[in-house]
Amino acid sequence: MALEQTLSIIKPDAVGENHIGEIVAHFEQAGLSIVAMKMIRLSREQAEGFYAEHIGRPFFEGLMNFMTSGPVVVQVLSGENAIQRNRELMGATDPAKAEPGTLRARFGSIVSANAVHGSDSPVSAAREIAYFFDQDAVLLRN
Ligand code: ADP
Repeated sequence: MALEQTLSIIKPDAVGENHIGEIVAHFEQAGLSIVAMKMIRLSREQAEGFYAEHIGRPFFEGLMNFMTSGPVVVQVLSGENAIQRNRELMGATDPAKAEPGTLRARFGSIVSANAVHGSDSPVSAAREIAYFFDQDAVLLRN
């Protein structure tokens, strides 16, 4: 298995409900290391650029409103098979369909407020990490 990096976002619902610590602890206890982290409030422009693949979808405006509604915590996670591992830890996009114990089952409420984001492929991870972090900010622990 490969040592990988992936982008994680703790979304405004989970931040607003004070679940940052539990989510970070979940990653660390699962063997993923946080190698970069910041709390920011996304502008509309930043949110659009990040979710550009969804422009035109019926849920896009709702997604923009949600993602800009409060601060988010953006992190780079590092570890063996980190991209897929994080997707497993998150659970399904719809919290109602997420496996018990996953982050979305625990902290999400509905598909449009599902607590966390995680890159879905190596190509996405590279793009998403570069979208938020300078290269030198994420090399420290690899
Ligand atoms: P994931 O975040 O699991 O990779 P997608 O990339 O398909 O899922 O969608 C991005 C985000 O857009 C989701 O996390 C979810 O918050 C929102 N979303 C996706 N599909 C819907 C939908 N049908 N209705 C409302 N929001 C949606």
